[in-house]
Amino acid sequence: MALRFYNTLTQKIEDFVPADGKTVRMYTCGPTVYNYVHIGNLRTFTFQDVLRRWLRYRGYKLDHVMNITDVEDKIIRNALAQHKSIREYTSTYEKAFLEDSAKLRLERPERLVRATDHIPDMVKAIETLRQKGYTYESEGSTYYRIAKFGGYGKLSHNDFSGIRAGARVDVDEYDKADARDFVLWKARKDDEPFWETPLGEGRPGWHIECSVMSMKYLGETLDIHAGGVDLIFPHHENEIAQSEAISGHQFARFWLHAEHLLLDAQKMSKSLGNIYTLRELLAEGYTPEAIRYLLASVPYRKKLNFTMDVLKAAGTSIERLRNFKLRLETGKFSEGINPAIEERTATALAAFEASLDDDLNTAEALAAVFEYIRDVNTAMDGGEFLAGDTAGALDLLARFDSIFDVLRPSAEVTGLTDQQIEVRIAERNAARKSRDFARADRIRAELLEQGIVLEDTKEGIRWKRK
Ligand code: AMP
Ligand code: ZN
Repeated sequence: MALRFYNTLTQKIEDFVPADGKTVRMYTCGPTVYNYVHIGNLRTFTFQDVLRRWLRYRGYKLDHVMNITDVEDKIIRNALAQHKSIREYTSTYEKAFLEDSAKLRLERPERLVRATDHIPDMVKAIETLRQKGYTYESEGSTYYRIAKFGGYGKLSHNDFSGIRAGARVDVDEYDKADARDFVLWKARKDDEPFWETPLGEGRPGWHIECSVMSMKYLGETLDIHAGGVDLIFPHHENEIAQSEAISGHQFARFWLHAEHLLLDAQKMSKSLGNIYTLRELLAEGYTPEAIRYLLASVPYRKKLNFTMDVLKAAGTSIERLRNFKLRLETGKFSEGINPAIEERTATALAAFEASLDDDLNTAEALAAVFEYIRDVNTAMDGGEFLAGDTAGALDLLARFDSIFDVLRPSAEVTGLTDQQIEVRIAERNAARKSRDFARADRIRAELLEQGIVLEDTKEGIRWKRK
């Protein structure tokens, strides 16, 4: 069966082929860089990474654009409070986002673009909307007139036919139930940063940036647009209203949305404060691979309940995979090829591929691999696995890892030699003796970040690798 995805727009599973048959033109909404991203955000970005890798596995080229939202209400509020420029304030979190993404082995999109680098493009787009009669102005701000766009609601499948024209919102975050005209250009307020443009002094609204940057780099019709489910409405609905009003063409053929990661049955979100950042989990000694594995292992359209137990289980699964690979590489097997094993490998690969073709069913893809490992281990124990069977098994693991990317231990986890660890522990002991507990704690935390756990015992400090 062909590669297929659930399309939020049509509410159906549809076969996917890029419009030109070769290159997937894809846009994904990136982070708002007002703080460190949390693992909920990273779940959505990990889904996008698996999506990228699977599209390539299926022979397509990628042209993937991700935006960095570096101007919006919270950024402006925080930058003002810290007496920083927008760029000064956001650069810390943009850098942190790139570091976190690299740690989780998220491939860099072909283009990563900042909203603040595209203000003139946004102004031009808003002027086009104005010429076409989709906007109105009020107190220096420009709004989108939703009632003018016939297709409003087609993505979120909401009926907005009864909405009152002219009721406005100008904040970047709003309530799900809100279906009011949204702001395209916000008039300058007090001492907030602003841009001097033909639309007046002010700054862009959140939605226009994605319409503008996606169409600038990818053309009027994208193959795939993706994000978390919370973006379906109003953000993506508004993107469609803007883009289709500007171009007169369908904006995106496929809309893919990742379900939320939950903590204690609630959406993990900065506003609720129930968050874990990647940094926090690494500092507690979890590995980037275990976190990546967990985020990827639940199919993206299912909610993911985060607990430390499932994270630990992810680490155990990775151990099984690595042990199996080691056994393949170092085991002593009799010469020859066992056709039954060859056949078993082929079935496992077919099941792995069919699962990912099926709207990226990562759970089934993993199940196919683990059932295979169990069977092959049994065959090895019984002497039925032969030396000539290893190449096929290793190939299967390599294909698995081209998507899941968890077999290689992270550099920092393996980076320290035993001697280096002992030196750090001696430094920590010295710090404790001189009652510099802050330094001692810092050393312990740094070691933890590198996967080294210290245990205080009667005999002194013991350490182990996570
Ligand atoms: P933001 O930085 O808030 O703009 O969010 C960046 C991405 O993370 C968006 O695609 C959101 O839909 C997604 N996101 C936010 N919270 C969660 C969560 N708890 N689980 C999964 N994805 C999320
Ligand atoms: Zn967006």
